[in-house]
Amino acid sequence: MTARTHDVAAATALAVLVLAYTPESLRLSTLLLALLANQLGGIAPDIDQPTAPLWRNLPEGHFVGKAFGKLLGGHRFISHSLLGLALFGWLSNVLLHFLHPIMPHVDVQLVWYAFLIGYVSHLFMDSLTKEGVPWLLPIPFKFGLPPVRKLRITTGKAMETLVLLPLLVVFDIWLCASHYDQFTTMLRHIVR
Ligand SMILES: [Zn+2]
Repeated sequence: MTARTHDVAAATALAVLVLAYTPESLRLSTLLLALLANQLGGIAPDIDQPTAPLWRNLPEGHFVGKAFGKLLGGHRFISHSLLGLALFGWLSNVLLHFLHPIMPHVDVQLVWYAFLIGYVSHLFMDSLTKEGVPWLLPIPFKFGLPPVRKLRITTGKAMETLVLLPLLVVFDIWLCASHYDQFTTMLRHIVR
């Protein structure tokens, strides 16, 4: 999947779960960081390819990205598995707790959940593509949805950009419109 689809999918997953498990109180700083963490989680698995957004925006990023990709076993390997989820989940948790003293009002647990939601959404979305995802590494088998490869999506082609992505956007608009009161009540309860 392209980075744009992953961004929208991560936000969609976060919105759905926030509606299901609305936090009782939320600080603005936590909300903003959670949104950022969610987007980072949504693209983090693609850190294993030099064309990833992170590497594209860094000077000499292409070379660093290549080296990083090799370290992670190549594209759609460790970072695209439950092992990768555990590894990146652990690293992000350590980082958030390290940063907590300089942002004591932020609920790092919620920010961490938002990161994980983004990460899992990435693995799910990539499972819809022809290549599939090696969810159960070290078992070297790539799983896909639906299981028949022919029925899955090719990254960047019309089925993704003209059907799936617009459908996600329409779903998000419907979600916001149909749960407008719940969203506004949550935003009204934001603690500064
Ligand atoms: Zn990916």
